[in-house]
Amino acid sequence: MKVVIKKTGINGEGIGYIDRLPVFVAGALVDEEVDIRVVERKKRYAIGEVNRIIKKSKDRIQPKCRMQHICGGCPLMIARYPRQLEYKKDVLKQSLIKYAQVNPRKIQNVLPSADIFGYRNQFKMPCAMEENRLGSGLFMPNSNYFIDIRRCFVHEDELEKMRARIMDILNADGYLGYDHHQKSGIRNLVVRGFDNRYQCTIITGEDELLPQTIDKLMRLPGMYSLWQSIHTIKKTPEIFGPKMIFLAGEKLLPLHLDGLDLEISPRSFFQLNTKQAIQLYRTIASMISGNHEFIVEAYSGIGAISLYLKDKAKEIIGIESIKDAVVNANRNAKKNGCAHVSFVCDDAANKLVYLSKKRTIDVLVVDPPRSGLDDAMLECILRSKIKEIVYVSCNAATLGKNLAVLQSCYHVEKVVPIDMFPHTPHVETVTLLRRKERRK
Ligand code: SAH
Repeated sequence: MKVVIKKTGINGEGIGYIDRLPVFVAGALVDEEVDIRVVERKKRYAIGEVNRIIKKSKDRIQPKCRMQHICGGCPLMIARYPRQLEYKKDVLKQSLIKYAQVNPRKIQNVLPSADIFGYRNQFKMPCAMEENRLGSGLFMPNSNYFIDIRRCFVHEDELEKMRARIMDILNADGYLGYDHHQKSGIRNLVVRGFDNRYQCTIITGEDELLPQTIDKLMRLPGMYSLWQSIHTIKKTPEIFGPKMIFLAGEKLLPLHLDGLDLEISPRSFFQLNTKQAIQLYRTIASMISGNHEFIVEAYSGIGAISLYLKDKAKEIIGIESIKDAVVNANRNAKKNGCAHVSFVCDDAANKLVYLSKKRTIDVLVVDPPRSGLDDAMLECILRSKIKEIVYVSCNAATLGKNLAVLQSCYHVEKVVPIDMFPHTPHVETVTLLRRKERRK
């Protein structure tokens, strides 16, 4: 069946129409004519697979990665980079118009990533056996089929070298993939690095790592902080188990960012593209004028945004639910001489209700996970008198749905998308909202 691709979907796939039924086709680009077979037909959409590309897009290129079509992480790698940015803007636009009727002129062009390969400062990869060797890679969706990924082009080059060296050591010392019955073996490997210093967490069953393994790992150039996490819970989206064991080196990983001195624990979240994190934080700071009394940052992680805003208010409070991250954030405030910036461990909505009853919040910055703001959070914001909101989003769909609600009390002033993840369909967005003068 022949289909012409009209637009890009939220997962980076091409969307065409059979009669008026949308059909999602992975691996097809806008303007391409493709011969497809329909593999699934639902009431409101269908899923097609490419048999053959009849007319190629002029923006189609050979992907740098051989595993691109198997791994699924980088669906846009088959298009030239400037075109990827247009797709991302288009997906954002579609979502903000569909859910919230945002004026598309408010949406700026996507700020490109400084590096389009080797930009990711962290990986969290499952480990398993492939042909008698312990590998780090991925499980095919909904299956036990494991693929060892020897080289990932979006990981920083040095991070990839670290991964290969760690895997060599684990293999030399005879470690195996995780076995649920025995509760033993290597389950995941998590490594992050800044300025050639690395923090590594090995997620295992109830195993003890051999002292010789720990020694060898610590002798790797750049290994700075070594942890183990015991994780025997069967089906869970969590990568880290409840138990963290500090093995060697330093507990915290330092990071120098744009004049700030930060430290991070393994379980704390930090932006995955370091150079783009700087662009993101500068964009947020540029939207907020100085001389405020009180700024609140919800979903504050290790506190980087609040510290970027340190000169904009007399007091800043960050709210974050992961305890390790809150401990990091408060240390980070101290290290950077910011006595007026502090962080609390709580649910964002819960604490915001309390704070907004007690005093006037001039600016609220939110940077929620992909699920967006929950109902309690939205309700609290609508009832508050918060004048400005900077909404940092990593999901265009939940951003659109949340803006639809917030617009009863707020104007969307501008929307600045930033590319943090070239080749993937992800779009990071900073939206400035200003409270309407009079409520209806
Ligand atoms: N702004 C930070 C982190 C953003 S990621 C940065 O730029 O680095 C989102 C953060 O929200 C994570 O640290 C996560 O632990 C936290 N989080 C998730 N749900 C939360 C909730 N209900 N309340 C408070 N924090 C939450």
